[in-house]
Amino acid sequence: MKAKAVLIILIISVGCSSAKKAVSNKITFAENSVIAHRGAWKQNGFPQNSIASLQQAIALKCTGSEFDVRMTADDTLVINHDPHYNNLEIEKTNYADLLAFKLSNGEKLPTLREYILAGIENNQSTRLVCEIKPSGINKERGQRIATKVVDLFRQLNAQHLVVYISFDYDILKKIIGVNPTAKTQYLEDNKSMDQLKADGITGADYFIWSYKDHPEMIESAKTHQLTLNAWTVNEAADMDWFITNGFDFITTDEPALLLERLQK
Ligand code: MG
Repeated sequence: MKAKAVLIILIISVGCSSAKKAVSNKITFAENSVIAHRGAWKQNGFPQNSIASLQQAIALKCTGSEFDVRMTADDTLVINHDPHYNNLEIEKTNYADLLAFKLSNGEKLPTLREYILAGIENNQSTRLVCEIKPSGINKERGQRIATKVVDLFRQLNAQHLVVYISFDYDILKKIIGVNPTAKTQYLEDNKSMDQLKADGITGADYFIWSYKDHPEMIESAKTHQLTLNAWTVNEAADMDWFITNGFDFITTDEPALLLERLQK
């Protein structure tokens, strides 16, 4: 009798958890090309890379919100663009010491865990475009950061939301090694589309002028079915150029303006 009850509870709980998983994985990314660069911070005066800027990108239904990941001296993954936070070098400072300083809107410096959890909540539209910064200490540390980041997305059941980007090619190769189905885009324009394809990278995210100076790269990317992204496109005329050229993603500090241009 007791065994039967345990079995029933087990079946119900397995059923519930798989239903919950199915719900949380159900997402239809917004059908626009707008990637909010460091979140949608500018219009509302939010700090870059804050949870408020991520939530605003989700509220605008951008197809993606970008952010930067670094690792503290005691191995905490945090969200910050610059190598320094309030004059403290992140890679050489413990997390607790960074917490002494708040962001300008009163938020604490977000950890990657907190950022992913905020990115899962009430999000039916927006990819998490996760830039892993190269380590200033050594390449090996960059490899370790890459593994830890992928593990965390897996742990939090958020792999379906993430696109990884990096200036460190080996970080992207490490990510593919750990998770062969990961979406990856390379940021430094020193690799051809042929090379990206050969190495299993799924897209290019190059500087505006890389494409304008070498428009033949655009056709090459399309031929190889690589995802095309560009940074950082803030002027209306440039936005129109990338829209006309059929870019999958356009990374911008002005997501509302880009959404307007796309309407036209
Ligand atoms: Mg970035």
